[in-house]
Amino acid sequence: MDKDIATPVRTRAILEKYGFSFKKSLGQNFLIDTNILKKIVSFAELSESSGAIEIGPGIGALTEQLARSSKKVVAFEIDQRLLPILQDTLSPYENVKVIHKDVLEADVQMVMEEEFQEINDIMVVANLPYYVTTPIIMKLLEDRLPIRGIVCMLQKEVADRISAKPGTKEYGSLSIAIQYYTEAETVMIVPKTVFVPQPNVDSAVIRLTKREKPAVVVKDEDFFFQVTKASFAQRRKTLLNNLTSQLPNGKEKKEEILTALSASGIEPVRRGETLSLEEFGRLADELYSYFH
Ligand code: SAM
Repeated sequence: MDKDIATPVRTRAILEKYGFSFKKSLGQNFLIDTNILKKIVSFAELSESSGAIEIGPGIGALTEQLARSSKKVVAFEIDQRLLPILQDTLSPYENVKVIHKDVLEADVQMVMEEEFQEINDIMVVANLPYYVTTPIIMKLLEDRLPIRGIVCMLQKEVADRISAKPGTKEYGSLSIAIQYYTEAETVMIVPKTVFVPQPNVDSAVIRLTKREKPAVVVKDEDFFFQVTKASFAQRRKTLLNNLTSQLPNGKEKKEEILTALSASGIEPVRRGETLSLEEFGRLADELYSYFH
């Protein structure tokens, strides 16, 4: 077996060979610790018949580990300069396909249909570019891709918000948006020292396991998310205050909002951060007819 890409010595040699300079604007912080990479892959629980989608392979550190643990890897990389490097570093692995594309603009569903024809168990595994973590995760979930879940490295602060429980200061509309589709857990805290260059923030790995059906059944998803966003607009305000100031014509509909709160058994003086997903679901459904 070839020497791992993700050692400090080999990584430095690859970067020097190609005269590669990091682009901060693309969130390029490469992993140089094989143990961390193996752990990330183990959280994805892949088998020989699994497929893996990677976002941002860099010079192939994680891609290599995924290629060894799955049937096929498809990796989206935005930076053209990395393509010849990846072709070189990943040449021992025939089960890897690198696609030169911004993942936010890619038709991931179509790529999956083309590339994973005989593969049913598919995970997204990535060390995400931190400048776009949330849009990438939201895109993957909102597109309702046929994946089992996502294991990814991201800023610890965002990981905390994603996996936060009601009643904590990290809990907000992002927690709800992601927990609506998945069960979210922070599985590892990662020190800065395992990256080159080292990022300015602390990092963590989260595992998102897709739910068979959303956490709550609601009349209208868009409206449910609109209500949750409105409820957190100003965290120190009460639910009633936020809903009247944020929902369309909310001020004129104060009585209706009060009626909906009462019908869903929620005190108007509570704050958004204390409501569970179920409570937000009930509230959105009670409010629905007044806003449609
Ligand atoms: N996987 C490598 C590793 O762990 O060492 C690199 C991870 S680095 C944090 C993020 C990677 O994502 C970089 O290679 C960067 O060029 C790439 N990237 C940034 N924005 C992207 C986008 N919108 N679509 C696809 N790749 C992107």
